[in-house]
Amino acid sequence: MDTKQLYEQYMITSMVAGFEPVVVTRAAKCTFTAEDGKEYLDCFSGIAVTNAGHGHPKVVAAAKKQLDELVHCCTYVYYSPRAGELCKMLADISPGKLQKSFLGNSGAEAIEGAMRIAKQHTKRKEMVALTHSFHGRTVGTLSITGNKARKKGSCPYLSGVAFAPAPYCYRCPFKLKPESCNTACAHAIEDVIRFQTAGDVAAFIAEPLMGEGGILVPPDDYFKIAAGLVRADGALFIADEVQSGFGRTGKLFAIEHYGVEPDIMCMAKGIADGFPLSAFIVTPEIANAFTPGDHLSTFGGNPVSCAAAMANIGVMADEKLPANSAARGKQIMDRLKKFQTTCKVVGDVRGKGLMIGVELVKDAAKDKAPAADAAKKVRVAAREAGVLVGVGGTFGNVVRVQPPLVLTAEQAERVCDVLEKAMTAVAKSA
Ligand code: PLP
Repeated sequence: MDTKQLYEQYMITSMVAGFEPVVVTRAAKCTFTAEDGKEYLDCFSGIAVTNAGHGHPKVVAAAKKQLDELVHCCTYVYYSPRAGELCKMLADISPGKLQKSFLGNSGAEAIEGAMRIAKQHTKRKEMVALTHSFHGRTVGTLSITGNKARKKGSCPYLSGVAFAPAPYCYRCPFKLKPESCNTACAHAIEDVIRFQTAGDVAAFIAEPLMGEGGILVPPDDYFKIAAGLVRADGALFIADEVQSGFGRTGKLFAIEHYGVEPDIMCMAKGIADGFPLSAFIVTPEIANAFTPGDHLSTFGGNPVSCAAAMANIGVMADEKLPANSAARGKQIMDRLKKFQTTCKVVGDVRGKGLMIGVELVKDAAKDKAPAADAAKKVRVAAREAGVLVGVGGTFGNVVRVQPPLVLTAEQAERVCDVLEKAMTAVAKSA
C-alpha cells in the first residue's frame, strides 16, 4: 500500500481544506521534497511550526546529542537538566515578569494549563474569549474557541465563557472604519464583562495575531485597552502565542508589537522547530497557585524536545530570524497590496512579519462575499507551480502565507509571482 492508501484505510483524518496530494519525504530550510522527487517551496511550515527552517542543522545536532544521553525520565518526577535550562531561557526571552514555565506537549495542553492556573490564582471561574478565535481541540480549548465550525460535535462545553467581538477590521463587527472606530471592539470587552458574565472572570484570552480566524491583526492600541479593562475587573490577560510566537510576526512574541505584558503566555508550534513541546509561562506569584499534585504531564518537557528548543531559540537570535521575518513579510505584503488594486478577488492583505493572510472575496468593489472556492483554487494553482500555501479563516477564504522565517528575498519574490498569477487566473474565471 502506498502512503495515501494507508492514510485512507488506517488513519482518522478530517482536514477542512482537504489533503494536499503531496507525500513529503524530506525537507530542508524552506523546501519540501516529495516522494516523486518534486520540490516545493513550503509556505505553511507544518502550520507555523518550523520557523528556523526545516531540519535546521543546529537544532537537529542538539536533538541527536540529547538522544544519546537521555530520551525520557519524566520531568515532573526527576530533575531533568534540559527542562530546567529551557525554563530559564523562556524566562529570559519572555516579556515582563513572566518567569516560571510549565512544559507540555501541544498548544491545547498549554492553553488548558493556562486556564486552570488563572482560575486557581484568581479563585474565579469564568473566561472571556474572542469570536473568530481558535485555541485548540480539547473540550476546554474548544469552549473558548469562537468558531462554530470547529466546535461542532463536541458539546457540551464548559459553561462560564463569554465572547467579545474579534478585532476583524475588514469585517468590523460594528461596521466602523479603522480610522474612526476608536477601537470599539476593545472597549466592548467592558460590556461583555458587565452583561454577559456573572462577575467572576478569571481571565481574558486572546491571540495577539489571530491565526485560524484568518490572520486577523488587532489595532495598535487594542491590547492596551483590552488588558486595562480586564485588569480593572481583577482578571488576568492570557496571550495565546501558540501560533504567533517565536519570530513569526517579526518580533520574538507578537504581543511585543502592542507594548503589553501578559500575565500568562502560551507557546507551542515554533518553540522547537518541529519537535513536540509547549509551555505556558507565568509570574512567580501566579505560579504559586498550583499546589503539589495539581498539574503534571508525563511527556511534558521531554529532554530531546527541550534540547531542540534551546538550540532553536539560539538560532533565532544568531540568525536574527525575527528581523528577517519582518523584512520578508514587508516585501511580500507591499507587493501583494499593490497587486490588490488590480485584482477584484483580493479583498484584504494583512499580517505582520511572515504571518500573512490574503482574504479572497467574490468582488472587492461590490461586496465582500467570501470566496472560499477561489482560495482553494489558488492553493491548487500555487501547488502546481511548486509553492505550498495554507487556506483558512472563519469563512475558508483566506490564503495563508506562513513560510519558515529563513525565507530569502528571491524566494519571497517567487511566492508573490506564483500567487499573483494564480489570483489573476481565479479573478478571470470568476
Ligand atoms: N492556539 C492557537 C492560536 C493555535 O493556532 C493552535 C493551533 O493551531 C492551538 C492553540 C492548538 O495547538 P495544538 O494543535 O498544538 O494543540
